[in-house]
Amino acid sequence: MARVALVTGGQRGIGAAISEALQAAGRKVVASYAGNDAAAQAFTERTGIPCYKFDVGDFAACQAAVQKIEAEIGPIEVLVNNAGITRDAMMKRLTRDMWDQVIDTNLGSCYNMCKAVWDGMNARKFGRIVNIGSVNGQAGQMGQVNYAAAKSGIHGFTKALAQEGARNHVTVNAVAPGYVDTEMVRAVPEDVLAKIVARIPIGRLGKAEDIARGVVFLTADEAEFITGSTLSINGGQHMY
Ligand code: NDP
Repeated sequence: MARVALVTGGQRGIGAAISEALQAAGRKVVASYAGNDAAAQAFTERTGIPCYKFDVGDFAACQAAVQKIEAEIGPIEVLVNNAGITRDAMMKRLTRDMWDQVIDTNLGSCYNMCKAVWDGMNARKFGRIVNIGSVNGQAGQMGQVNYAAAKSGIHGFTKALAQEGARNHVTVNAVAPGYVDTEMVRAVPEDVLAKIVARIPIGRLGKAEDIARGVVFLTADEAEFITGSTLSINGGQHMY
C-alpha cells in the first residue's frame, strides 16, 4: 500500500512541487496550508491531493490535524516540514512579534509536527522526515536575524532527532534550498534579487522542482542509510 506523506505548506510554492513529486513517486500525499483557501482548492482540483488547513505554529492544532489525517487517510509515514514565513527587518526594526512569528512558524512547527507523528513512526519502525532549512540558516543574512536563527535551529534539531530515530528506522534529514523562484522570493526588491542571482554560480534562481527532487531522494524507502544530513540545493551559492 502507498505510504502516506504529509507536506506542510504543500499546496503552493516549493511545497506544491514537493507534494506533486512525492505523488509521482507513488506516495499518497496530503498537503497542509495556513489560510490560502483559493490556492488549496485549485491545487486539489488539479492534483487530487487533499489539503488540510491548520497553523503549524500551534501545538494543539498540529496534534488534532495529525489525528484527523491519520483517521481519514492513514498513518503518516513521510513528513515534510516545509511551511515557512519571513518577517524581514534589520535588528533596529525587528520587533518581538516578528521574532516570535518566524520562530514559531519555521522552527516551532518542526517540533509540533514531529511530536505528533513521532510515536507512530517509531512504533511502526519506519519513518522519513525532511525539514526544509535554508541557505540563510547556514550562512546568515542581514535583515533576517529571526529567519536565519529559525532555519539554523532546524539543522541542529534535525541532527539531534536523527540520533533518536535511527534505531527504529526513522530517518530525519534537512534540505537547505538557496533562492528559489516562489512568491516568498518575488517579494524581494528587484535590485536586491539581481545582486543575489549574481552570487549564484549556476547563474539562475532555483526552481521548486530542484528542491522537490532532493526531498524525493531523502524520503525513498531505500534512503535508510542517510540520516542527520543536510542536502544543500543552492546552485553553488554556499558550499560547506
Ligand atoms: P511560500 O510563501 O510560497 O509558501 C509558504 C507555504 O507555507 C504556504 O503553503 C503557506 O500556506 C504555508 N504556511 C505559512 N505559514 C503557515 C502556518 N503558520 N501554518 C501552516 N502553513 C503555513 O514559501 P516557499 O515555497 O518559498 O517556501 C517553502 C519553504 O522553503 C519555507 O520553509 C521557506 O522558508 C523555505 N525556503 C524558501 C526559499 C525560497 O527561495 N523560496 C529559500 C530557502 C528556503 P498558505 O498558502 O495558506 O499561506
